[in-house]
Amino acid sequence: MLGLMQNQQLLISNLIEFASRHHADGEIVSRRVEGDLHRTTWGDIAKRSRQVAHALDGLKLAFSSRVATLAWNGYRHLELYFGVSGSGRVLHTLNPRLHPDQVVWIANHAEDEVLCFDMTFLPIIQAVHSRCPMIKTYVAMCDTDKLPADSGIPNLVSYEAWMGSQSAKYDWPQFDENSASSMCYTSGTTGNPKAALYSHRSTTLHAYAAALPDVMCISARDSILPVVPMFHVNAWGIPYSAALTGAKLVFPGPAMDGKSVYELMETERVTYSAGVPTVWQMMLAHMKANNLKFSTMRRTVIGGSACPPAMIKSFNDDYGVDVLHAWGMTEMSPLGTLCTLKNKQLSLPPDAQMQIRLKQGRAIYGVDMKVVDEAGNELPWDGKTSGDLLVKGPWVVAEYFKGEGGNPLIKGWFPTGDVATIDSDGYLQITDRSKDVIKSGGEWISSIDVENIAMAHPAVMMAACVGMPHPKWDERPIIAVVKKPDAVVTREELLKFFEGKTAKWQIPDDVVFVDVIPLGATGKMQKMKLREQLKEYKLPSLG
Ligand code: ADP
Repeated sequence: MLGLMQNQQLLISNLIEFASRHHADGEIVSRRVEGDLHRTTWGDIAKRSRQVAHALDGLKLAFSSRVATLAWNGYRHLELYFGVSGSGRVLHTLNPRLHPDQVVWIANHAEDEVLCFDMTFLPIIQAVHSRCPMIKTYVAMCDTDKLPADSGIPNLVSYEAWMGSQSAKYDWPQFDENSASSMCYTSGTTGNPKAALYSHRSTTLHAYAAALPDVMCISARDSILPVVPMFHVNAWGIPYSAALTGAKLVFPGPAMDGKSVYELMETERVTYSAGVPTVWQMMLAHMKANNLKFSTMRRTVIGGSACPPAMIKSFNDDYGVDVLHAWGMTEMSPLGTLCTLKNKQLSLPPDAQMQIRLKQGRAIYGVDMKVVDEAGNELPWDGKTSGDLLVKGPWVVAEYFKGEGGNPLIKGWFPTGDVATIDSDGYLQITDRSKDVIKSGGEWISSIDVENIAMAHPAVMMAACVGMPHPKWDERPIIAVVKKPDAVVTREELLKFFEGKTAKWQIPDDVVFVDVIPLGATGKMQKMKLREQLKEYKLPSLG
């Protein structure tokens, strides 16, 4: 017997229509590329996302066509979030920090047909457009009078001219909630980048879950400044949860330095924020140097990399801000765990509480997790035994876009590439990473890409890229190199060899010449051993 409840599909268009009907006057404030502050409301965002939907219909884009963005956090990007997905197309948020060659590869792989970009990224578009034959329309996210006359980009229109004259009434199409809504590429541990392809259902369920009190605790009383970019896993889902709750959104645009973010938090009475440790490092340094305090900020989610204990302490003790340590992945929409205390832990002494808060937290309902040994046997939740972390749930990938990399699941569980313990209260702690990647300032650097570039140098016989701890960026890559017999190459020459071949920030900080790189039985480089070998090593920038 089926339940007799209405079978309304969970569609992203419902989120924006709800926002429009129930909190139309909720504010959206954005610092624009032009530098000024722009103010709008959920009601206007809804209207304009309907206009975006009409504009896409006008381009005759088929259901599930990909519409890419290359944009900061801002109101136009928010309109595209709802207009693109709501009208049945797939929003593909490109990462502007990548090298143009990577952008070309990803845009072609995704088969993007439209690309909407902030003017900051015009040079990227100029570098890539001739190599992206599927993109038929380029939309500059600017006012009509700001459109450059001589950009050299064919079919370039200004966002306002493109959507501005469209009707603000639109009947959102109704379709299966499992249809694709958006996509985000993540740097592959092997081979090329792979895309997580989210659905309307997964995004809506994630939006509900993210707003829960023990998760991000998002409400209509919040003023939220997402520092985490909208091109990085949908800004951790905040735009959707904000639409669902009616929270105010404050977008920093391109001004991501500590001073600008702090000022915006103060003027817009921000209560809540989210970002990777690196951005907070910069902001705390600015606040300390200028003896500043927060007037309204109360909570911030920190994730993407392990949050340093000193940061949690400083936020709490010096600024009265509660840090919510979170763990997740692009493949998980991204939220997996969040660290909040249980009732019984509130009476623990501060040090004991701190030990818990340093962990990545408890699973959110909707994500199940386990740690397993090499044979796949589940390990005990004792807070000590570490193993490979596996997850499953309705907002975890089942496979990557176009089946890249084959079936990633192990008996229905997604292997995260993280190594972790889980304690008897269900708190996860990430202890290591089995995937061969480096995370710098919250963004991935593929060791394999770095190694491939080094190996293309005629003097290099073998190269291994590893991450070294860095106080600001969390990790920075270095490359250990075995030279070919009698070959001569200097550190400087090799570093120069990387220029132009990858994004600047993905170039290793240093080259270490070694006699051998430890290899395992199958000939695979043993990075753990190499890191052990380099344990006395210090990055040049750290003296
Ligand atoms: P995001 O940066 O949004 O978490 P990514 O897919 O870019 O998503 O990165 C996911 C990976 O980042 C995880 O598999 C893990 O290795 C690392 N990571 C994320 N959050 C944390 C955290 N709180 N502590 C340690 N590592 C983390």
